[in-house]
Amino acid sequence: MSDGHDGHPHHEGMDASDGLSYYGRRAQAIEALLVEKGLCTSEEVQSAMDNVESRSPADGARVIARAWADPGFKARLLADPGSALTELGYTLPDTTPHLAVVENTEQVHHMVVCTLCSCYPRTLLGRPPDWYKSFAYRSRAVVDPRGVMREFGLELDESVEVRVLDSTADLRYLVLPRRPAGTDSLSEDALAKLVSRDSMIGVCNPRVPDPVAAD
Ligand code: FE
Repeated sequence: MSDGHDGHPHHEGMDASDGLSYYGRRAQAIEALLVEKGLCTSEEVQSAMDNVESRSPADGARVIARAWADPGFKARLLADPGSALTELGYTLPDTTPHLAVVENTEQVHHMVVCTLCSCYPRTLLGRPPDWYKSFAYRSRAVVDPRGVMREFGLELDESVEVRVLDSTADLRYLVLPRRPAGTDSLSEDALAKLVSRDSMIGVCNPRVPDPVAAD
């Protein structure tokens, strides 16, 4: 990146002096300050990192499948995600960022972006994909959401209202996609397999089940 007027170079590459990238050294410095000021411990930082590393879109898919299968859970999930998620063993941080779950319907389709950086519901989806962090997605999601969805294979009817939600450091979003037709007989595990990561970001719909042979 550029050299600041303060004379401190801001690069993203590796720094030969300690083998850490600019961001690596920055993260270490921030952690050291937080610990020094007594705001958290190194163990808490490590445990938060382990928590995110252990998560994947399979966790989010499990939550969506439960919401599809259990209307009571779905209502609780939409109203108060934090407490509903404890039913499945997930604990959201009680500080920010908070999580909102938004439901896609026949009339409204939600799509999530972080226009500023890469805010993402990591507690349920793990790390965001690279395209989510790209400048192309962050800018185009706002000006041409339907065009972006088309590239993910989703052609929405003009009658469907598209709502683009901008994630922030305070509030993250998880999309509750529409349950595909023809899935009434599927188990929760089978439903979860239809829930792709991208459908929980809202750039596409869940997978459609393979045709089931007549019983
Ligand atoms: Fe962000």
